[in-house]
Amino acid sequence: MNLQNFEQFVEPKIVERGLDYYENEDVRKVEKVSENEFSAVVFGSEIYTVYVKLNGNEIVEYECDCPYDWGDTCKHAVAVFYKLRAKDFTDSAAKFENVLASVNDFALRAFVRKLLKTDRKFRNEFFRTFDEDFAEDEFEDEFDEHYY
Ligand SMILES: [Zn+2]
Repeated sequence: MNLQNFEQFVEPKIVERGLDYYENEDVRKVEKVSENEFSAVVFGSEIYTVYVKLNGNEIVEYECDCPYDWGDTCKHAVAVFYKLRAKDFTDSAAKFENVLASVNDFALRAFVRKLLKTDRKFRNEFFRTFDEDFAEDEFEDEFDEHYY
């Protein structure tokens, strides 16, 4: 699936909803965060963050933090694909690297510690990545048909 043909691989209803989001300019802050990775914010019933990794035009990986997580592509990701197809994004890759390089270990740990206490999404992602014994919190993954 790539930026030119993703419509063929996604349920028509979802493509249509994603196109609506794109046309209504609900996709904001589309940033290139590395040579082939992108981050965007989509205004839906809530504000969602979408991550996309490309290889040229090929969509290698994508992720949205909405609860529509049944292995299929959500409308928010589709909306971001349209934005990337239009090459409508800001290049923030250099800024990311510069700021990260300027932060020392101690400050970074203090920052992570604060987020672990205050941001449940971050906490889940942190433990999912670093804790071998991590068990998913099923409560937070409850599916709601509203998110179609
Ligand atoms: Zn989504």
